[in-house]
Amino acid sequence: MPGISNINIAVIGAGMAGLKAASILYQTGMTVTVFEKSCGLGGRLASRRTAFGHFNHGAQYVTARDPGFNAFLQQATACNVAENWSPSLYRGTPSPAKSDVVCVEGNLVQQQWYQGVPQMNKLIRPLVDDFPVQKQHRITAIEPVNQRSFMLHDDLDGIFGPFDGIIVTAPAPQTAYLLRPLAPRYDVIDDVVMAPCWAVMVAFKQPLPTGFDAMLYPCPEIGWAARSSQNNDMFHRRTPDPWVLHASPEWSRAHLEDDKERVTEKLLAALRDVSGVKFPELHSVQAHRWRYARTERPLGKSHLNGMNGRVIAAGDWCLGARVEAAWRSGQAAAHAMIETLLG
Ligand SMILES: Cc1cc2nc3c(=O)[nH]c(=O)nc-3n(C[C@H](O)[C@H](O)[C@H](O)COP(=O)(O)OP(=O)(O)OC[C@H]3O[C@@H](n4cnc5c(N)ncnc54)[C@H](O)[C@@H]3O)c2cc1C
Repeated sequence: MPGISNINIAVIGAGMAGLKAASILYQTGMTVTVFEKSCGLGGRLASRRTAFGHFNHGAQYVTARDPGFNAFLQQATACNVAENWSPSLYRGTPSPAKSDVVCVEGNLVQQQWYQGVPQMNKLIRPLVDDFPVQKQHRITAIEPVNQRSFMLHDDLDGIFGPFDGIIVTAPAPQTAYLLRPLAPRYDVIDDVVMAPCWAVMVAFKQPLPTGFDAMLYPCPEIGWAARSSQNNDMFHRRTPDPWVLHASPEWSRAHLEDDKERVTEKLLAALRDVSGVKFPELHSVQAHRWRYARTERPLGKSHLNGMNGRVIAAGDWCLGARVEAAWRSGQAAAHAMIETLLG
């Protein structure tokens, strides 16, 4: 379509939602730039590199209900960046607190699980195209120039644009921070609830002598514990034996401001108690706090339009607590932008 490449779009966030939206818009022929505050891609599909392999300290596995997302996972599998994962799983009982996280996970254990190969953040590879990703640019403000165009400001006093449309895919509170000044319409984002999660990455010098590779809600403190990086070479050697623990949403909330040492100590003690095995010596341990990890109360629709359809909020939090929700929301946001700009 003539002139379509003159349409200039900014996508904020290079997680699953942002990259899905960017790839659709780029394929349509628009000029797309992604802005990402961190130095890597994937967002909460996160992996941390260590001297002996990767820890997946964010999303642990993905599942698909939507046929489109299922096709995406098949594509990722064909590209060797995804693989089935069927760990020997211990299933405990979640605490009575009702959350989307709990309901969703509870329903999912019978489904096919996939992991990124060799680590989770590789799952986004099929979405990475020739559009530029401006890493280490934290967008701090969206400035309307007029009703049809917008400038972006970052934390290093950079100014970018003008853009004809913007899709914001940061977690709900961070998206609300950017969009609230533009229009009261975006205030509904404040109704979304996202739970924090403390993650502990521990490597044991010898394999943890448990019969399980993964534990779902083994105790009130821990929502999930699993051998990490199943597919990387180091795992097969099994020493050091890398595990990721995710504190439960309730525990993470109660201990949100604790320091990393205290969190590590308490979660390892909880794992030691519940596993009932002799702990091998620790090789290394580190902790990461996800302030906005999993959606507990979603927006309830795939995306949120405003500014005449030119500034769109998207992300997992629109629909749920899973990678699939992010993918679907990014897709819906891109189609909404196309509808606005191309009618
Ligand atoms: C501990 C944990 C465990 C999980 N386990 C699972 C699981 O097992 N299965 C599952 O399906 N899902 C799981 N999830 C949820 C899953 O990771 C998310 O649903 C999904 O990755 C969200 O994708 P997204 O693109 O919406 O957001 P994100 O991945 O958060 O991407 C948003 C991006 O925006 C960037 N950003 C934010 N603000 C700005 C700004 N101002 N300027 C520029 N960039 C910005 C961020 O750095 C980030 O890269 C888990 C999440 C966590 C944290």
